[in-house]
Amino acid sequence: MSADKLPVLPECIFQTIFESSPGSLLVKADIPCFTILAASDTYLEITSSTRELVLGRSFFEVFPDDKDFEDETNARKVFTRVVKTGHKIDVPTYRFDVFNRATQKYEVRYWSCCNTPIFDADHKVAYVLNTVVDITGEVQAKQAAIESEKRLRLATEAAALATWDLNLKDQQFIYSPRLAEIFGHAPETKMDLAQIRCQVNTDDMRDIVLKAFKEALTTGNYLYEVRIYWADGSIHWIKTQGIVLHNDRHEPVRMIGTILDITESKRDAIRKNDFIAMASHELKTPLTSIKAYLQLLAKKLLPTDDSFVANALSKAGNQVNKMTELVHGFLDLSKLESGKLNLRIKAFDINKLIDDAIAEINMISTSHIIAFNSTGVIIINADKEKILQVIGNFLSNAIKYADKGTRITIKSEVINGDVKVSVTDEGIGISIKDQANLFQRFYRVESDKMKNISGFGIGLYLASEIIQCHKGQIGVESEEDKGATFYFSLPLADQVTL
Ligand code: ADP
Repeated sequence: MSADKLPVLPECIFQTIFESSPGSLLVKADIPCFTILAASDTYLEITSSTRELVLGRSFFEVFPDDKDFEDETNARKVFTRVVKTGHKIDVPTYRFDVFNRATQKYEVRYWSCCNTPIFDADHKVAYVLNTVVDITGEVQAKQAAIESEKRLRLATEAAALATWDLNLKDQQFIYSPRLAEIFGHAPETKMDLAQIRCQVNTDDMRDIVLKAFKEALTTGNYLYEVRIYWADGSIHWIKTQGIVLHNDRHEPVRMIGTILDITESKRDAIRKNDFIAMASHELKTPLTSIKAYLQLLAKKLLPTDDSFVANALSKAGNQVNKMTELVHGFLDLSKLESGKLNLRIKAFDINKLIDDAIAEINMISTSHIIAFNSTGVIIINADKEKILQVIGNFLSNAIKYADKGTRITIKSEVINGDVKVSVTDEGIGISIKDQANLFQRFYRVESDKMKNISGFGIGLYLASEIIQCHKGQIGVESEEDKGATFYFSLPLADQVTL
């Protein structure tokens, strides 16, 4: 037997091979009948038919033409062309619904077909070999992907979001036309990553973008807000959000995400902030005068036998103090928002500061038992006034949110090179859900117990920002109705004397 010649197989062996081949059907080239001569087991299985049903019958009798699909993929046309031209014809995607005997219903099926002519001794097409592969799964997955992409595109367009995709290997950057618009260009403008980064404010690029990028490679998430410049010199704000995609070896390979133009909301926030700053600044002077006049009045009238006068003076003093605290809070808030919270760092003893905070709070209220066992001298480097403000906020909250007569315990302890200061009360406590939001600006717990307790929800936000500016940690441990412990920790100064 020569190497390039197939052996002549006995018909029964040929039949066995054919019947066990994947998705094959042999039809006679008897236009227009195309009588079925052989069918493989797989073909019968995927078309939900049997050998008895198909053999010796016209292809179109067994698999009637679907009049809805009278296009170039129509089987009758394809078979006829194969016979007439003698060329093999592939139909990569072909819809042919199959009747499912079990459910008695037609099922949508997609096929990839190949129609090969088989010639007789006179070189005339005698048969057509129709081989099919069921690709319904692939087609439906592709359709679902197209659908979901369409839905995503609609959603991003409605939200005016730009989408982007960065290849981390070659820095290739693909983005939607909206991105060019957000950067002040016509939607069809082509830009690469370097050009886009050139428009970002230099400080923001160094302090925010590059840091966020580095962090994203370890955390997997990318989120920041920065200023960008348009060609006309105007400043705009963008918010970028994204995730990192990894390959099988867990190496970061791509980053995908969205960009939103947040210029309007930023401008609103800046306007609001400017207003708060201006209003609080304007209130400071009259408040200082009222306080001075009250002190003068007190000097002139006190001590007095008139209990009404004494009481009114003390209440007016308390109210002015409360208002001064509030105005200072708003001033700090506006300084924070505009990044002007200047820290005056110096070394001091935190335990002495806690004593001062207790003395200060005792001047306003003596309704609770405040316990503090000083542990000697603990020196830290920080802004003393600001840290006093944080302890003061913890203490005044403990008084505000716990019943009169209950105990407030302050602790300061050295743990792993940090000092941890905690304030524990026996008050209403905070649910786990609320604990997650407590340090956000203007956040207040909404509950019946809170109805008669006034506040603005800025104290803990300021405290958290102050501690973060000092590279420290702040937190809370609590259970509803079981009191709360608010704490912060700060690094110790170089020499610690205990
Ligand atoms: P304010 O007390 O002015 O509302 P804060 O920022 O100081 O603002 O506190 C935010 C919220 O946290 C409060 O509204 C309150 O719901 C909750 N909270 C703070 N301290 C305590 C505490 N010691 N016990 C229970 N809830 C507290």
